[in-house]
Amino acid sequence: MTRPARALLSAQALRQNFEHVRAAAPGAKIMAVIKANAYGHGMLWAARLLRDADGFAVASVEEGAELRGAHIAQPICLLEGFFDPAELPSILEYRLAPVVHHAGQLTMLEQAAGLAGLDVWLKVDTGMHRLGFPVELAASAAARLAACPAVAGVRWLSHFANADNRFDTATKHQIERFLKLLDGLAVERSLANSAAVLAWPASHLEWVRPGIMLYGGSPLIGHSAAELGLKPVMTLQTRLIAVHQRNKGEAVGYGGDWICPEDMPVGVAAIGYGDGYPRHAPPGTPVLVNGARVPLIGRVSMDMITVDLRSQPQARVGDPVVLWGEGLPVDEIAAQAGTISYELLCCVTSRIPRVESTT
Ligand SMILES: *Cc1c(COP(=O)(O)O)cnc(C)c1O
Repeated sequence: MTRPARALLSAQALRQNFEHVRAAAPGAKIMAVIKANAYGHGMLWAARLLRDADGFAVASVEEGAELRGAHIAQPICLLEGFFDPAELPSILEYRLAPVVHHAGQLTMLEQAAGLAGLDVWLKVDTGMHRLGFPVELAASAAARLAACPAVAGVRWLSHFANADNRFDTATKHQIERFLKLLDGLAVERSLANSAAVLAWPASHLEWVRPGIMLYGGSPLIGHSAAELGLKPVMTLQTRLIAVHQRNKGEAVGYGGDWICPEDMPVGVAAIGYGDGYPRHAPPGTPVLVNGARVPLIGRVSMDMITVDLRSQPQARVGDPVVLWGEGLPVDEIAAQAGTISYELLCCVTSRIPRVESTT
């Protein structure tokens, strides 16, 4: 690790955010969503720390196999199910529970000769219109699963489209459709993502499926993570590798479209889009230098960014720079770059070492 860019990870923050889920949904089991390398934090790192989770959710058999290889024993849900019948033996071997969301998967299960003991999650489309059986076809899908020799147990889930908005009544309607469909059935059900864990208690049911809130991103429009009691798990940091005194009128960076409005110090930090810092972050995006906010200037390069040091004239080569995390919410940087915290966290590239913080 010669280059100073790294993602400092707080185990304490991850565990605190998990306890926050417990407190918000005390009656529910928690399926911790650790797909996409635990939103960029490291899947095994997260799974080991979340040892109190009742289950985990990932997107592929490979992820599930890696978890089993690391002796993670909890139920593991495959959120997109399987894509090809050839995956079914591995799914059984690793005791993974795939989502079943379309008729083709039912047929694959029915034709899986000699397999038995598979637990599945039957997915219903209650209004998001992405994956799942339409509500009207759910009962017949369930009947086919019940009659299928490969299948042992069936749980039910659906996913929200608009739960991040407390005022959007679509979520209420999705909850009602799901509850009505399963009224009177003694089955395990799951609806809630992070937003619903916090904002829609009627959706908690038997299993909640939090992702982003575990990592300290805000799942709710109009609410900062801090005000929701969530702690940033990842702090993306680096150091200044150059400080230059520039003259009024000099252009900084590719394209030369940022022009110094006066004689001023400009810092260069070792982080760029090759590390996952968003290239679309515009001039003015906040960056912490020695813990103080300074504005990004010029275009984001692959390995570097430039910052306006007029408010930090004492800044020197080697001084610490924070791109997001402790002291600078990732949600704020995401908003500046026209995206969401999820994308920024997932897109931290493999050349960034993940280092557990000691505090
Ligand atoms: C990713 C995902 C989640 C977690 O969503 P967050 O908004 O990160 O809490 C839950 N359920 C499903 C089906 C998902 O794909």
